[in-house]
Amino acid sequence: MTTGMIDLRSDTVTRPTPGMLAAMSRADTGDDVYGEDPTVMALEERVADLLGHEAALFTVSGSLANILGVRALVRAGQELLCEERAHVVRAELGAHAAWHGVTTRTWRHPDGLIDLEALRSLMVPDAGPYLVSTAAIAVENTHNFAGGTVHPLADVAALRELVAGTGVRLHLDGARLWNAQVATGVPARDCAQHFDTVAVCLSKGLGAPVGSLLAGSADIVAEARVWRKRLGAGWRQAGVLAAAGLYALDHHIDRLGEDHAHARSIAATIADVDPSVVDPERVQTNIVLLRLGERAGHVVEQAGAEGVLAGIVAPGVVRLITHLDVSRDAAERAGTVLARAIKG
Ligand SMILES: *Cc1c(COP(=O)(O)O)cnc(C)c1O
Repeated sequence: MTTGMIDLRSDTVTRPTPGMLAAMSRADTGDDVYGEDPTVMALEERVADLLGHEAALFTVSGSLANILGVRALVRAGQELLCEERAHVVRAELGAHAAWHGVTTRTWRHPDGLIDLEALRSLMVPDAGPYLVSTAAIAVENTHNFAGGTVHPLADVAALRELVAGTGVRLHLDGARLWNAQVATGVPARDCAQHFDTVAVCLSKGLGAPVGSLLAGSADIVAEARVWRKRLGAGWRQAGVLAAAGLYALDHHIDRLGEDHAHARSIAATIADVDPSVVDPERVQTNIVLLRLGERAGHVVEQAGAEGVLAGIVAPGVVRLITHLDVSRDAAERAGTVLARAIKG
């Protein structure tokens, strides 16, 4: 990216801060395939504790954490249920099917949330010799392609109750669970405890250059460690990356509130010129969806020419994501540029 650009395409575009780079250069390391990297082990313990699970595994990407988590819950030929726009079915290139024979069916919720009624009719545990058996349900909190929406804790508890005694297990794609925690004040653990496996990212709003974790029971995580290596993703002195993650957990969680305020202010500036495009009241975290219809391509091009980068995530839908590298001034400028492009 050219300097001076305001990049709202994703919160994955952040660069490590000087403080983070210093922490990385000080990291104590060892060979993680031998289980000897003290910084990786410290990160895994820290995240397991934050999520209220027995153990956690450090992975190169959130997709890999999801792949290993779902694999632990769903056998080849069984199914995973998830919302229609979930990252696990839209943005992981069919990995769950390609590697592990997992089939999927989906429900649709306008905000990407849990629909208990739909799930009651979709879910078929132990289906026998004719229908596909449901092995697990995946929930995404916050929901990326639905616009950074947060799941009410009561819905999650009700989902846990729905599957109780059925053998159906629950996976949480919590790539932005920290954003949900900051937006609601509900600790990540309170949501995560309802799930059998939980994936979280350090490389989104938390600003680490690389890294995600899968949390779960000690057995599940031990097995995921084997499968991670089997997929070719065991790593050696990964402590330099784990140090960035620990630094991010120490310094970059509480500040997510700033990203949320910036997202809301950009949405408000845009709604001032065209309220049909976005409702700022509905912006819950760091993601803003602009419903632009035919104008989407033109607006993205025009804003890009003025130094503001945005992405199209569905036909006519532009997504903006605020993050660590978008200052308050930059957010203001982005709002002005986008509003001008939309006004035309
Ligand atoms: C970004 C993201 C992931 C993981 O993405 P990677 O690029 O593989 O790290 C998983 N789930 C959601 C909802 C995401 O937004």
